[in-house]
Amino acid sequence: MSRILAALFVVFLSVDAGAAAPPSSPRPLAVFLDDAAPATRAKALAGIHALGGRVLHAFSDVLVVALPDGNELAAYRLAGVREVALNGVMLSPRRPRPGPSYGVAAWNAIATGSRPADRGGIEPGPLEDDALTPPPVSLEAVRAARRVGGAAQGDAHGAEVQGALAASSAPLGATDLNTSEFLAGAVSVNIILVESDGSIDASTEDWSVSRENDVVARIALGLEWIRAQEPQSALRFVYHVVPGRTDARARTGYEPIHRSADPSGSTGEDRWVKDVLAKMGYPSGDRFARSRALAADTRRADGTDWAVNIFVVDSLADADGAFADGRFAYCWIGGPHLVMTYDNQGWGIGRMDMVLRHELLHAFYAFDEYAGSACTCTEHRGYLDGANLNCETCNPTAGACVMIANGDALCAATRRHLGWADLDGDGVIDVLGQDPDTFLDAMPTDICGAPVLAGFASVVAATNRNTFGGTTHPSISVNRLAGLEFRVDGVAVPQVQMDEGDWGVPQERFRATLPALRPGSHVLAVGALDDVGNRDPDPGTVDVVVHEALTALGDSVRASRGGSGVFAMSWGACGGATRYRVYRRSSPGAAESIVAETASTSWSEAGTATGYFEVRPVDACGGERSD
Ligand SMILES: [Zn+2]
Repeated sequence: MSRILAALFVVFLSVDAGAAAPPSSPRPLAVFLDDAAPATRAKALAGIHALGGRVLHAFSDVLVVALPDGNELAAYRLAGVREVALNGVMLSPRRPRPGPSYGVAAWNAIATGSRPADRGGIEPGPLEDDALTPPPVSLEAVRAARRVGGAAQGDAHGAEVQGALAASSAPLGATDLNTSEFLAGAVSVNIILVESDGSIDASTEDWSVSRENDVVARIALGLEWIRAQEPQSALRFVYHVVPGRTDARARTGYEPIHRSADPSGSTGEDRWVKDVLAKMGYPSGDRFARSRALAADTRRADGTDWAVNIFVVDSLADADGAFADGRFAYCWIGGPHLVMTYDNQGWGIGRMDMVLRHELLHAFYAFDEYAGSACTCTEHRGYLDGANLNCETCNPTAGACVMIANGDALCAATRRHLGWADLDGDGVIDVLGQDPDTFLDAMPTDICGAPVLAGFASVVAATNRNTFGGTTHPSISVNRLAGLEFRVDGVAVPQVQMDEGDWGVPQERFRATLPALRPGSHVLAVGALDDVGNRDPDPGTVDVVVHEALTALGDSVRASRGGSGVFAMSWGACGGATRYRVYRRSSPGAAESIVAETASTSWSEAGTATGYFEVRPVDACGGERSD
């Protein structure tokens, strides 16, 4: 886990502290990249990070970012950046883009926030009875679902999303079963646009580029709405679009919209979702194991915290925009995936964002609050174990909420289900607000020279109190270490040489050399800082005595042999010396041996021994000096 840096570097803690400031919410802007090459994006990401920006939505060729105000021009000048847009953009025929640009479509939806009219003619149905309990899946089943050596979705993004967008390691404590435990941090989103090939069912639906763009745009708009509800959540999304029109992995012999969704049976989702997941590299096990494995692999490849798979079935030609059993949008509680139709029944593609956000919140354990969902105010779940208090069956004053009437509001009950509650009152939502820990290695308390502090730092996870059955709920932290704060006698040490230690990971060994201190007693302390701004309130401390540095013996040594044959040496006292060692060699270059160790500044030997003698001062720590 730890990495010894080839070159030493200096940590400027004032910079770290600034980077950990609470996220502000400037207006997002779009950064259009020169091309979709990973190297281009890596360059642009590094530049955006250097400007203090954060990526909110990442597509292969477009990044929607939040920059500190006044940096738009600087973003335009970054390597790899073709243009920067503050508003929606037209796709100019003079600047043709190769193939569909989902990122452009997404940005236009986010920039304008427009919501076209509904489909008309069909009354939109409530999103109740759309949260389904998945069957239990074991970790072994998820591992077995992968094709050996198979490529995972997300590989194409991989390392280049690290750094400015995401951290470089999975969240602390999460297993492959835990891909959507609470809604904060970086989320990978696989958008799978399923296309039929006519080999089993008659093919009646065919995706087009513009309708693919519409779907991705509406999904991004829904996710942007969720993100904006809680700036503390630091949500950011990495998208992978798999269009069955051009990508064989999302093609199946079934025409899903003609079938019942049949989520709990074997005639609908079980057929085509399993088929598509097999083509994506997950041929074994049930669809829940396969889908969870896809989510876990995408998270790993992207360096994100969570992942959700969204299957969208085309329904343009279908009369009611719904499956044969009337379903049109539903989600498996806690993930790993949700299913939607293009038309979203009477909601229409224009309001897909509204449907999407309701469904996605189910993947992070939000409850339905519709009376028709048979909700109760005593049922409870979610990372912070919240009761379903806004359920309209039992709460006559239930307020507007995205989970009750699909409205533009988020109630406190739903917030808690997602992890967005500050129960400990420290001003930060609990899932992100835990202070990191710092542990110092045992070290000598006598210090000669510059003090070296070594130890281990770790972010700390809030306790996962989710009681939802069928899977495990370990405690997980999406925080990453951002640096260390050093103090000597209670005073901050601004510059420390880090010999070992790399940030952006949840746990790390460190080794640091402090500036030399004046002789005497000192209290040294080191405390970890994380990327949310949490500080270790109880830093690792050690009481030490710093000793005077050894001064050189120089040419003060005198030697003589008296008339009685006594060989005598004397030398000047050295600063910092507690004793002196006398070495003897039989000849130059021969092995040396200690013939005396004395606190005195002289030594003599009665005898006839000959040889080459050297005196070295020794400090309180046992170190000696030979010049
Ligand atoms: Zn629902």
